[in-house]
Amino acid sequence: MTSTLLRPPVSGTVITDVQAIPLRVPFKTAFKFSQGERASAEIVLVRLKADSGHEGMGETQAWRRLGSRETLPGLVSKIENHFAPLLLGRSPFDISAIMSDLENELYDSLYAQAAVSDALYDLQGKILDVPVYHLLGGKCRSSLDMCAPISISASIDKTLDSAQRLIERGFKSLLLKIGIDPRQDVKTVAALRHKFGTDFTLRVDANASLVFDDAVVLLKKLEPYDIDTAEQPLALHDLHGMAELARRIDIPIMVDESVGKASDLINVIRMRAATVVQTKQAKNGGIWRVRKLWDIAGAAGMRIYPGNHPSLGFATAAVAHLGASWPGPLLDGPFAMGVSGELVGDVGVSPLRIEDGTLIVPDGPGLGFIPDEDQIRRYRIDA
Ligand SMILES: [Mg+2]
Repeated sequence: MTSTLLRPPVSGTVITDVQAIPLRVPFKTAFKFSQGERASAEIVLVRLKADSGHEGMGETQAWRRLGSRETLPGLVSKIENHFAPLLLGRSPFDISAIMSDLENELYDSLYAQAAVSDALYDLQGKILDVPVYHLLGGKCRSSLDMCAPISISASIDKTLDSAQRLIERGFKSLLLKIGIDPRQDVKTVAALRHKFGTDFTLRVDANASLVFDDAVVLLKKLEPYDIDTAEQPLALHDLHGMAELARRIDIPIMVDESVGKASDLINVIRMRAATVVQTKQAKNGGIWRVRKLWDIAGAAGMRIYPGNHPSLGFATAAVAHLGASWPGPLLDGPFAMGVSGELVGDVGVSPLRIEDGTLIVPDGPGLGFIPDEDQIRRYRIDA
């Protein structure tokens, strides 16, 4: 008896080309946080081609701040000189062995690995003609709520204007950057609550800029304002300080910069240095590694805050697929910063769908975000 099952072109398909594409995409308005001010986002796309004719795309960013020293030429070199030889001739379905080989080749190269991980998932999905969430266990939700970050501005009135516009667009959750001037931070938080009440979620993020004493004083003053979490108040290495802060302050503490790989998160859990963790595709090594962080965090009873550095549609879609396939609770994270209006443009044929502060999970094959080659050329900086 002959089988009537159709076999997709999976076995035997191999990667035949690896490209790293550096882009610079300006912000509409320079983004200011405690670590400095950025006029543009530096982004690297990875394009993988297979002998089946399919292509997969992934994204990472060279977002420099405490905990990240990446540059565009550095990321391109890692991908083209060190990773490409480990990818060519391999099956895109051998993601476990490939990601292990990349880490063995370049220890702690999570930012570069992220774009490869997500390009492999995109390629698998394209070959099988299924969305990436299908490869991650199926669809548990069709949309993800997002929060909107508010950068540090010169005046409280400007911050209130920014918040007004975001709330009018349907965002129910704001992430206020703090940590340069604690007195101004307290006044800003008070003004936000005074003007908009308590019908929205408010989180604060100091981006690792405070010393312990200042953090205690500032967060104690913020306690009455219903702050959902205080993100990374202290230096990324100071987990003892974060644990002490978590005991003394009645605002839940979140880690972001402190967590790169799984062992970092395990240390946070052991020390009870935070009860919320923010992941980012680039910082944490793409879908392959972020999903493992979510499993660990979920098992430890931590809240999960899906994030991204300012990014394009590929990294945003990657979070959408992770979130779609996640059966547990998720916070409304800042994972769409870039595609929700902060950057001047994107590189997709059509934009990801955002409605009332909610991202609709794309249903097309792979990541469901189709590259627009003209837009890629427009932002490419080595062309
Ligand atoms: Mg952060």
